Amino acid sequence: MPKKILKAYKIRLYPNAEQQVFFAKSFGCARFIWNKMLGDKMEHYKTTKTTLHNTPAQYKQEFEWLKEVDSLALANVQQNLRAAYSTFFKQGTGFPKFKKKGIKDSYTTNNQKGTVAITQNTVKLPKIGHINARFPDKINGLIKSATISRTPTGKYYVSLLVETITTPLPKTHSTIGIDLGLTDFIALSDGCRVANPKFLAKLQDKLAREQKILAKRRAVAKADQRRLSESRNYQKQKLKVAKVYEKITNARKDFLHKLSFTLIKNHDVIAIEDLNVKGMVKNRKLAKAISDSSWSSFTTMLSYKAEWYGKTLVKIDRWYPSSKTCSNCNHLLTKAELPLSVRTWNCPVCLQKNDRDINASINILHQGLILVKQSKTVGATGLA
Ligand SMILES: [Zn+2]
Repeated sequence: MPKKILKAYKIRLYPNAEQQVFFAKSFGCARFIWNKMLGDKMEHYKTTKTTLHNTPAQYKQEFEWLKEVDSLALANVQQNLRAAYSTFFKQGTGFPKFKKKGIKDSYTTNNQKGTVAITQNTVKLPKIGHINARFPDKINGLIKSATISRTPTGKYYVSLLVETITTPLPKTHSTIGIDLGLTDFIALSDGCRVANPKFLAKLQDKLAREQKILAKRRAVAKADQRRLSESRNYQKQKLKVAKVYEKITNARKDFLHKLSFTLIKNHDVIAIEDLNVKGMVKNRKLAKAISDSSWSSFTTMLSYKAEWYGKTLVKIDRWYPSSKTCSNCNHLLTKAELPLSVRTWNCPVCLQKNDRDINASINILHQGLILVKQSKTVGATGLA
């Protein structure tokens, strides 16, 4: 059965000088209203211990230039701020922060009966009209919203949220378990491994080198008592760092998209570990490996792609000892018997030679299939 889904398309924009000014103004207003509303809320709470329910409209009289930008951009700021407060109160972490210029410059607007639209080579936006664009994919469906952003390297993008239809992929009757590798990116229960792409490692080395130079230039400017904004060498190097960083982010995302799609296409059930990445990143030794591997964005991609294409993603409890259990006879090693440095081990009971990561992925698959079976049985009794 085809399914209605929301899909985001990222499109490169090529605004002319006038349009760039409009975007700069819009980013500025969105940032201003966020900071102003947040500041006033905090101030109000300090004196009254109650929540201030402020709206962008209240500020338009005092700050007339707010009227020059898309009013939906400001309305979306209000909504995002409300969402940020709500997450803070629900999860108790990350109080909303003030926004700084040049970091995540963006604003969001909504499509109201065709105010946001696309042609073959332009995107139409409220208040500014058609902007030249390059589309990587064909876009079909109803556009719900558009988020316009500028990267630190000065590129413009619009992310269109589109209501579209997906068709499930054909069933393959194949199942697979995935273990997050330490040396490789992942190890699979069919014995395959997927390495971290080499070019990523190369780019990361380059990033480290450029960052070192940046730190030196910062120190030089400081010693000369010059502001960083006035130090040309520092600014030049900062742009260089941003460019390498952007390249890494894009290349990594591309790699994860292709890999997650291949797995979803080739298998009906995909079992993974529900890793607490936040907890693991705190562990210094693992930090680089984990963040490099981008495990959490990978699992997010698997999760929504499984949903889109009619496949099953099952997550295994992160406390399940997938590495220490022998996938052949279920014998469990102690922690001391399997330190992180041991890559292969011989089961003392059945004598099977276990590759640490492949063995773990086989266990993850076994557990996953048990969970899938259980959920089906529960479903069946529920129906009866
Ligand atoms: Zn065994």
